[in-house]
Amino acid sequence: VSTLIATIRRIIEFAEQFQRGLTGIERFLQIMDADVEIFDEPGAKEMGVPKGDISFEDVSFEYPDDHNTVFRHLNLTVHAGEKLAIVGPSGGGKTTLCNLLPRFYDITDGVIRIDGEDIKAFTLKSLRKNIGIVQQDVYLFSGTVMENILYGNPDASREDAVEAAEKAGADAFIRELKDGYDTYVGERGVKLSGGQKQRISIARVFLKNPPIMILDEATSALDNESEFAVAQSLHHLSEGRTTITIAHRLSSIKNSDRILVLTDQGITEEGNHESLMAQRGTYYQFYTMAERLK
Ligand code: ADP
Ligand code: MG
Repeated sequence: VSTLIATIRRIIEFAEQFQRGLTGIERFLQIMDADVEIFDEPGAKEMGVPKGDISFEDVSFEYPDDHNTVFRHLNLTVHAGEKLAIVGPSGGGKTTLCNLLPRFYDITDGVIRIDGEDIKAFTLKSLRKNIGIVQQDVYLFSGTVMENILYGNPDASREDAVEAAEKAGADAFIRELKDGYDTYVGERGVKLSGGQKQRISIARVFLKNPPIMILDEATSALDNESEFAVAQSLHHLSEGRTTITIAHRLSSIKNSDRILVLTDQGITEEGNHESLMAQRGTYYQFYTMAERLK
């Protein structure tokens, strides 16, 4: 019965979102895996746990609604366990690239593979189960903190959820809330800060334990103090996983295995921090400008 009540609550929440406009709905659909346009291909199979090799081969993409071409023949390989960072100007396509891997949108041409297999060969559910995403805007649904963390893996136990919260640096502040893990959050619940919500979303990903992780400007909305705490949890979370990080703050990606500069012209520079600095191109300019603004 409690699941039924939670479901009804979510439907009401959804109706409220509907009145507030489309961005809320789109976000809601993404979160609830209830995409309207993207389906399993006929004969789609379950994806097991991948090693985490990723390749984009000759990928072209335009958004379905406005035919805005974002990628033309993009090629990109990420090795299992590699820490790849992507930087570039706003509108360069970083978020779009991240959204293509879990198939929030389908590509127009080319192929995206995980461990050598076309991602369309897998069920959406099993594909998305293997990819953890932390974004700038975190959406918590109306429910308890515990329910929100368990969303990462509904089969997990309460103990597992607490352990995930500890790893995400969220346990301490959760325990201080009036009902601890059973505190109600969301529309009519306790207001959490951006950093607290973000740490709950990181706890979700720890609980999900996916081999592939995407961090899309995951700390950009935070103040310095919570950014440091969240960055620590993210660093911990990325260990042993293929990780794609999009960062507005270049200092946080200096130690990545590889850095790409993505602009509306495609991938224009690629290398580690030292080699990109030596090239004296766009990355070098970004970096020196950011240093000067400090
Ligand atoms: P970045 O994350 O690097 O700032 P985005 O991936 O958000 O870049 O955007 C890349 C391009 O795609 C931009 O021209 C942007 O306007 C466009 N775009 C982003 N999201 C959508 C969308 N949902 N529908 C249509 N165009 C979009
Ligand atoms: Mg973006």
